[in-house]
Amino acid sequence: MVKEGTDIRSLTLGEIETYFTEAGERPYHARQVYDWLWKKSCRSFSEMSNISKSVRERLEKDFTFPVLRIETEQQSRDKTIKTIFRLSDGLFIEGVLIPDADRTTACISSQAGCPLGCTFCATGQFGYKRNLQFTEIFDQVAELNRQSLKQFSIPLSNIVLMGMGEPLLNYEEVKKAVEMITSEDGLAMSPQRITLSSVGIPPMIRKLADDRIRYHFALSLHAADNAKRSSIIPLNKKHPLEELTESLKYFYQATKKRITIEYLLFNGFNDSIQDAQNLALFCRNFPVKVNLIEYNPVEGTGFRKPDKEKTQLFREHLEKKNMVVNVRRSRGGDIDAACGQLALRTIPEQ
Ligand code: SF4
Repeated sequence: MVKEGTDIRSLTLGEIETYFTEAGERPYHARQVYDWLWKKSCRSFSEMSNISKSVRERLEKDFTFPVLRIETEQQSRDKTIKTIFRLSDGLFIEGVLIPDADRTTACISSQAGCPLGCTFCATGQFGYKRNLQFTEIFDQVAELNRQSLKQFSIPLSNIVLMGMGEPLLNYEEVKKAVEMITSEDGLAMSPQRITLSSVGIPPMIRKLADDRIRYHFALSLHAADNAKRSSIIPLNKKHPLEELTESLKYFYQATKKRITIEYLLFNGFNDSIQDAQNLALFCRNFPVKVNLIEYNPVEGTGFRKPDKEKTQLFREHLEKKNMVVNVRRSRGGDIDAACGQLALRTIPEQ
């Protein structure tokens, strides 16, 4: 017998089968229910239209089915959509859908808030509430996929775990969510289209390597000397660049995956030629692709948008060293949906 208050999505297919058998119902209902839960990512028992009403009522009585609810949606001038989701305990998180010419990318959250307190980041300033459950991570993808189909007439093409929170502090739930997002029994998305972005926790990077992840890994570096990096990412004091480098070497050796280095450019802080030189030295240790991202100012941080000319010189310095470099604009700046801006500015205090 299932315990009262069990979340239906915490059960495996086999466990749902056992439930139906013990309840004297046909076990084939298990596959139908499982498909509704994961492949069709339904939001209530009443949507399970090929299952009889009496069976649905029994499920309703025996299980809970908490899902993410959309609180608000806000569209930017550049068509980026920021969605605020309400969790079943009343907390809020944010997800962003970014459209390009022929694809859409979902930027999703792994925690409600974040405990790491990076000084340039609105989420860091907002504080930490809790880790998300894997179903809450999965639901963001399912909802943004629906949004992509509705608004842009294409299914979601890419996912970045780059919203609120540090995914490697919630690794087990992230791992389970990715399994259901990529599984044939779930949304069947390719792991090649998923990127986990982290400020870098060396023991967890080694764990990703040992798990032979099939998705991509991006490091939010933002400064390649310890003093500067520690001043904006407090975690760097505990895990300095030398330790990070060793874990990334280990990661590359195990996975043979090229690492993406995310580098937010802050005017007058980390955009000099010396900074570019430090970055190039750091990147000598493993194959990388560098994304230079123009910072969108967050109130109260004191950091400013980078200068176009300096950005160009920074880029050229790296390219002269044969590095792969992209300059990316942050999207959705006018609705606080850009990199480092997710902090629930549009809803009441939690
Ligand atoms: Fe947390 Fe990432 Fe913001 Fe740092 S940048 S505070 S790790 S959400």
